[in-house]
Amino acid sequence: MRGVLGNDQVRDGTAVERVYACDSYSIERHEPECVVFPRNTYETQLAVQRCIEIDVPFTARGAGTGLSGGVTAVKGGVIVSTKRMNQILEVDPVNRCTLVQAGVVNQKVNNAVKPFGLMFAPDPSSQTVCTIGGNINENSGGPHTLKYGVTADHVLQATLVDSRAQVIVAGSRVSGGPGIDPLSLVVGSEGTLGIVTEAWLRLVPMPERIETALIAFSTIRSAVDAVVEVMARGVIPAALEMMDKHVLSAVEKAFGLDYPKGSEALLLIECDGRSQQAESEIRSAIEACLDCGATNVETAGNEEDRKRLWTARKKGIGAMGRLAPTIVTHDGVIPRSRLPEMLEFVYAIAEENSLGVANIFHAGDGNLHPCFYFDEREPGTVERVLAAGEAVLDKCVELGGSVTGEHGIGLEKIDSWSKSLSANDLRLQTTVREAFDVSGLCNPCKVIPNQKGCVEHRRRWSGAAT
Ligand SMILES: Cc1cc2nc3c(=O)[nH]c(=O)nc-3n(C[C@H](O)[C@H](O)[C@H](O)COP(=O)(O)OP(=O)(O)OC[C@H]3O[C@@H](n4cnc5c(N)ncnc54)[C@H](O)[C@@H]3O)c2cc1C
Repeated sequence: MRGVLGNDQVRDGTAVERVYACDSYSIERHEPECVVFPRNTYETQLAVQRCIEIDVPFTARGAGTGLSGGVTAVKGGVIVSTKRMNQILEVDPVNRCTLVQAGVVNQKVNNAVKPFGLMFAPDPSSQTVCTIGGNINENSGGPHTLKYGVTADHVLQATLVDSRAQVIVAGSRVSGGPGIDPLSLVVGSEGTLGIVTEAWLRLVPMPERIETALIAFSTIRSAVDAVVEVMARGVIPAALEMMDKHVLSAVEKAFGLDYPKGSEALLLIECDGRSQQAESEIRSAIEACLDCGATNVETAGNEEDRKRLWTARKKGIGAMGRLAPTIVTHDGVIPRSRLPEMLEFVYAIAEENSLGVANIFHAGDGNLHPCFYFDEREPGTVERVLAAGEAVLDKCVELGGSVTGEHGIGLEKIDSWSKSLSANDLRLQTTVREAFDVSGLCNPCKVIPNQKGCVEHRRRWSGAAT
């Protein structure tokens, strides 16, 4: 690799291998042999070509904020970091699109297009660090997915280096295009079809007005009832997020903020669009919440207030370190009308397994993120966390949902997903993967269940803290 890319673009050694052994889901750790830092599509091709020659696997890595183990080097080999592919190559305000390299951080795209009154709508809560390549490969959502859609709705074209080191340009800069759409296969493929190096992204106008409210409830049940009621009244908020009292207590401890006493849950509701529309929608949403028993309503008068109201949602997961040394965040999705029974189930399963659980999630989408917090040094805890997580995912499927809303399958969900995959579905997934990953070296052992030679590499829990 040094011969191909130069010394400066290759790192190895124990420290590097450990840092790159996992993502934000650290239950499984696998150390790579080295990490390379190509700066463009051509250098990525060189790296992949070398991997093919020496027959070692390679795995693309953005910021490593993934929550399902997708970037772990299960069979060792090379991590291809996109860190140095960090250029915004073009902003085209007239056609509302931008060309960026895959390693550009989501927030930086927004900073660059804001002067044109435009935004890149997908806004994962990790957006200050996660990359566009990661967003595309996880088909990431975020608080504003409810109104604006997920990443798939905002990518026009992606340039990909496949596992033969060939360049594929999927999609087109303008909408439409003949034939089977390879871009729709690449988005959400979790790095298994190749390495995305560049993408044209769709931009949307920034809303004229944003109205934000933080609404407190004295029971979980009334908060989830309000989620269903807001949507039933025809309001489509830009964001409809929920945080329970455990999240609030972590945020209070971490940042010294106060929330209304006796609150079991808060809803963060944001409505945007033209001024009149945003105002009338937030009014309807607040009325729906009051009708469901809301105990306190705080609205944002300016941008500073808005940021403050978002604090618990944006910083909640980070603050959770105040509750216990280890957290594991799960991700499942259900029809939002089933939220009341689902949340009851989550709290009951945590109690049954003697675990703490905090809920912070995209309630409007029915996309849950139960965070189990615990001390992994206590014997038997990890097994209980895994059992509780599996029960939650099984319940999501039982209620008509799925085992992932936005964090992907990676390594974490392979077993859970395989339960709901028919033989035909599995064959189709495998065929698509093999059509792109001809050498079989591209991010092996991820997403697709039962890949040859992968089972022996799976290792449950290495005792690492999240
Ligand atoms: C605090 C926190 C909050 C989060 N909030 C959200 C949220 O609101 N919504 C959401 O959807 N997710 C969320 N996530 C999960 C995660 O941030 C997203 O999945 C994000 O898009 C991952 O980007 P990344 O650059 O960190 O990718 P990585 O973690 O580095 O990689 C993720 C996957 O994409 C592949 N990949 C990365 N770059 C490329 C590339 N250029 N080409 C091919 N494959 C590639 C990797 O191989 C891996 O399989 C959150 C995570 C954290 C830690």
